[in-house]
Amino acid sequence: MATAVAPRVFKNFINGEWVESRSGKAYENRNPANTDELVGMFVSSAEEDVDAAVDAAKEAYKKWRLVPAPKRAEILFRTAELLVQRKEQFAKDMTREMGKVLAEARGDVQEAIDMTYYMAGEGRRLFGQTTPSELPNKFAMSVRQSIGVCGMITPWNFPMAIPSWKMMPALISGNTIVLKPAEDTPLSAYHLVQVLTEAGIPRGVVNLLSGDGPGAGAPVSKHKDVPVISFTGSTAVGRIIAMACAPDFKHCSLEMGGKNIIIVMEDANLDLAIDGAIWGGFGTTGQRCTAASRVAVHKSVYKEFVSRFVDRAKSLKVGDGLDPSTEMGPCINEQQLNTVMSYVEIGKNEGAKLLTGGNRLESGPYAKGWFYAPTVFGDCTPNMRIAQEEIFGPVVTVIPIDSLEQGLDVANGVPYGLSASIYTRNVNRAFQATRDLYTGIVYVNAPTIGAETHLPFGGTKQTGNGHREAAIAAIDFFTEWKTIYIDYSDKLQRAQIDNA
Ligand code: ADP
Repeated sequence: MATAVAPRVFKNFINGEWVESRSGKAYENRNPANTDELVGMFVSSAEEDVDAAVDAAKEAYKKWRLVPAPKRAEILFRTAELLVQRKEQFAKDMTREMGKVLAEARGDVQEAIDMTYYMAGEGRRLFGQTTPSELPNKFAMSVRQSIGVCGMITPWNFPMAIPSWKMMPALISGNTIVLKPAEDTPLSAYHLVQVLTEAGIPRGVVNLLSGDGPGAGAPVSKHKDVPVISFTGSTAVGRIIAMACAPDFKHCSLEMGGKNIIIVMEDANLDLAIDGAIWGGFGTTGQRCTAASRVAVHKSVYKEFVSRFVDRAKSLKVGDGLDPSTEMGPCINEQQLNTVMSYVEIGKNEGAKLLTGGNRLESGPYAKGWFYAPTVFGDCTPNMRIAQEEIFGPVVTVIPIDSLEQGLDVANGVPYGLSASIYTRNVNRAFQATRDLYTGIVYVNAPTIGAETHLPFGGTKQTGNGHREAAIAAIDFFTEWKTIYIDYSDKLQRAQIDNA
């Protein structure tokens, strides 16, 4: 549908300027809660735009890597201040382009603020080690060195937080950036880059390209002058990116899918567990990589848990995230909605018991959006596809279990390993679970979501490829160690030989 006023066209940011794509093409960004609303037009980038952005980042790197890290930090600090000032506006725009409820969009911007302050603080640390040499009159230390142009390819579910997780550690470490955000949420990335420019980021240090994955993302991942790629998204695309990086041995960090679980033991505080399962399962419409898409419940409390959980799921208010009474927004787009619908059919055919939901919401206030009812499947077995595969929507599978051991087996019996949680008041069980859950993140008496920026974030198995985001782990990825030996003995000293 056309809008009355001409839509604003948002451009790429290359070498310190807002520019059209070379092809002149643009695409629409629409509100998933009301597709009549055009959020804006964004340029469609292709290989030649990527080349221009990488050239700018490569040139800017020559100077940026030599700027003292505490000076780089001042720009980050100002960026964080500006984000604080504009938090409300950016949160509203995020809800319009992505659909998550306003409180969660504020949380997304807050995560970017937290990460930016945190990494600004790193400007006066970036610690290495000094350590004694095994030889006399010899000094040994390790320092972190920057790497160069970092390509970043990000998803739509945390439109400002995830770009900030990648950009801030890369910048404080002295790297330059080419960012390709998800095609569904370019506006939040645009805002983040805009505040970086206002905070004084030098020309070419940060470059932004909008566009789709194959057209704009793939050329970034393959570019010979981009030695580092940081990706968050689906496992299928992560595999393509890993292969694109392999020939040149690019550093490549992949954050991908999850099939996270909440284990509810018979001694759990059930009120708390139900609150956690609702928030973990339906927060962000289940579209978080850490979403609690499985709940394994001990048989002795299964009936009570399920009936109360289903009642709560039924009563969730679905709608436009800008309405303060809304508890769950729409799916991001039609394709995601179709994926959810097809998994619900798969679940029914597998014999899972549909306890609530299972339908698209299409009438009245839902007519113009991609809404789906909060859906719960009960009596699921661990090997059903709906209990194994990432759905990325408001669908929770509930699995009965007999014991903690069985719960741990179910938890670990999926191809992913991002986040897991246990509700119990037994400290022995809690500690056993934190030890034996093979995931990157474990919660006790809290849902699977709620990462904090100063702790490592990431997962095992097909969730990732061994790297972690956030915290110091992010600095580890965006720097390389350089070990420096200084021999002041004035003679040849042979390690492992002269001192043996
Ligand atoms: P999601 O399911 O969260 O949208 P995707 O993996 O499809 O996850 O997308 C995550 C990011 O990867 C997006 O920015 C998307 O444009 C990008 N992308 C998709 N396909 C490719 C590709 N072949 N090469 C590089 N980037 C891609």
